[in-house]
Amino acid sequence: MGSCIFCDILAGKSPASMVYEDDLCAAFMDIHPITPGHVLVVPRQHCEGLADLPPELGAHLFQTAQKIGLAIARSGLRCQGLNLFLADGKAAGQQVAHVHLHVIPRFERDGFGLKFPPGYDNLPERAELDIISQKIRRRL
Ligand code: AMP
Ligand code: ZN
Repeated sequence: MGSCIFCDILAGKSPASMVYEDDLCAAFMDIHPITPGHVLVVPRQHCEGLADLPPELGAHLFQTAQKIGLAIARSGLRCQGLNLFLADGKAAGQQVAHVHLHVIPRFERDGFGLKFPPGYDNLPERAELDIISQKIRRRL
């Protein structure tokens, strides 16, 4: 593993505005927030993505994100809703190769959103969904 900014933060070698810490993970403010209150939940163990993240640790990250989301909603920050977001892989938008779960407060007209691909308006046939579901099911 080369240098990792999140490992540096967790080791106290780089600054962060910490929100929560336990034995397995930490949560700190995103340095470039989408909305005020944008938090990252990060495992202490350096895992690059979902493929090397132990499932129990993934469950703990989700539980922590849930707890932090509820705290954000009670904090007085502008928060009418929340997005939990995880980018797994460069093609999915992952920039920092240490798995992390974004907790993003949302409000009406905050300007953030998902962009849908061309052709999204055309619903696929059930037969196509069935074929795809089978491909995935076979690999579970
Ligand atoms: P992703 O695109 O899902 O990999 O997101 C990486 C996130 O990490 C971005 O939202 C960055 O703003 C955030 N980030 C990068 N460096 C730092 C840092 N030193 N402290 C806090 N957040 C960071
Ligand atoms: Zn790391």
